[in-house]
Amino acid sequence: TRDPIAHRAAATPQRTALLDIETDAAWSFREFDRRVDRAAAGLEDAVLELSDSKRGNQQRIGVLMDTRPAFATLFFAAMRTGVTMVPLNVRETTGELAAKATRTDLAAVVCERDTEKAALELAVETGSVGVFTVDEPESDRTQSLSSETNDGGVSDPDSAFESRSVQPVPLERDDTQLIMFTSGTSGEPKGVRLTVGNLVASATASAFRLGVDPADRWLCCLPMYHMGGLAPVLRSALYGTPVVIQREFGAESTARVLEAYDITGVSLVPTMCTRLLEAGWEPADALRFVLLGGAPASDELLERCRDADVPVHPTYGMTETASQIATATPAEIDRHEGTVGQPLLFTDVSVVDETGATVAPDEQGELVVSGPTVTPGYLDDEHTESAFGERGLHTGDVGYRDADGRLWILNRRSDRIVTGGENVDPGEVVATLRSHPRVDDAAVVGLPDEEWGERVAALVVPDSETNSGEKLSQSLLSHCDEYLAGFKRPKTIGIADALPRTASGTVDRDAVRDRLLEGGI
Ligand code: ATP
Ligand code: MG
Repeated sequence: TRDPIAHRAAATPQRTALLDIETDAAWSFREFDRRVDRAAAGLEDAVLELSDSKRGNQQRIGVLMDTRPAFATLFFAAMRTGVTMVPLNVRETTGELAAKATRTDLAAVVCERDTEKAALELAVETGSVGVFTVDEPESDRTQSLSSETNDGGVSDPDSAFESRSVQPVPLERDDTQLIMFTSGTSGEPKGVRLTVGNLVASATASAFRLGVDPADRWLCCLPMYHMGGLAPVLRSALYGTPVVIQREFGAESTARVLEAYDITGVSLVPTMCTRLLEAGWEPADALRFVLLGGAPASDELLERCRDADVPVHPTYGMTETASQIATATPAEIDRHEGTVGQPLLFTDVSVVDETGATVAPDEQGELVVSGPTVTPGYLDDEHTESAFGERGLHTGDVGYRDADGRLWILNRRSDRIVTGGENVDPGEVVATLRSHPRVDDAAVVGLPDEEWGERVAALVVPDSETNSGEKLSQSLLSHCDEYLAGFKRPKTIGIADALPRTASGTVDRDAVRDRLLEGGI
């Protein structure tokens, strides 16, 4: 079986595969295929140069790049050569990157000019990782791959890219194509093994749910080192539709791109959607899908989307399933407020209680997921052992399902606060705090407490007109007294300008906890 780009280059060579906002380059599938081929040759050489083993499935190459065409090119080049790609988060420190490079046993890291310094620092830190820099010229000219290793030698920039063709390895469903790290919301990011089969199943199931069509144009403005950024690239390639790449999201710039490029679909994390609306964005008629994922979309946001006619599709997903598990349509959320919709084709979700038994419809429990998109396991066997049970992967998310199979997500199991033996759902406290007129946003966590085991603590973002945190805290406490049982009332309140978030937009709960431990009011 050929890879998707080779297939497209044969089937629809002239169609546009990719548009890059930054350089204004537009590649046809034939051009994309040519570039994938050259990158594949570069990867082969890199792998050969770095190890004695012949090219093959087990080589792991890191990618330290922002969202850009070269990233997409490398993704398919890795698929073509049977190399496992390990996307690295450009926002991380050298220490964090080095830990990941060691855990994944990286042979080399491919970077771009902008991330070269970080990559070289990483090479020095680990002492064993080679560094290759992809040059992406301003205009549309030849891409080159220069080879540098941490002992300093810089080779001729073009030498790694001979104009020979690689002999593609056949696509094997069970080959590990990616080791993708989770966002690290609940602790250290976990390395997730995703197979070619997982990725293709996820792309096709989501295309099936959404109803992609040949006229679609997806905008990719999320980091490609998370599934939310990479998934649209693969889906577009499989269906032969163009993907528009914007290196970095910006409320004004993204609103302009959506309009100017006649975008029909975009994936966003909820905070991005809020920022677009705050910047006065009005979606054009061409736009059919605004996928919101990675974190819960608040009722306020969904309300604002409805008012502004945003064709919003709340989705629920995770790295472990190569993106979405369930996706709702605008019509569905109108009728069933707060749902993330039905699971995608062939994805099974069970809702189970503490003993692992399935609960009745509308009853809460942990969501357990199985199907072709679910990872065969984590990088670390201990994680795999603790996460997989009889019915599949335990997501750690708590929610429920109605009699028609629609899902609602409530919170994470690990976010539950147990205070004096009582369970507190942080989501409920957040909703109460947010209903206070002076509050823009809030996060609620449990802090260790000698007397109660844990105590409820809140980090609150006041609206711009509030100037006394002290007064606000008092007013919040009486507000909570009115709407919440005593044990749910925050015992510690901190004030912040913004909530700390991970790169995927989820609230970074560890950082919230640290902030509150430093001192609330
Ligand atoms: P880590 O696993 O390292 O703690 P993470 O779970 O945040 O990080 P991701 O795989 O990026 O890493 O995120 C998946 C998680 O995001 C889901 O398990 C769920 O908790 C949350 N999530 C995704 N979509 C939604 C949604 N629509 N509503 C609520 N939570 C969501
Ligand atoms: Mg997770």
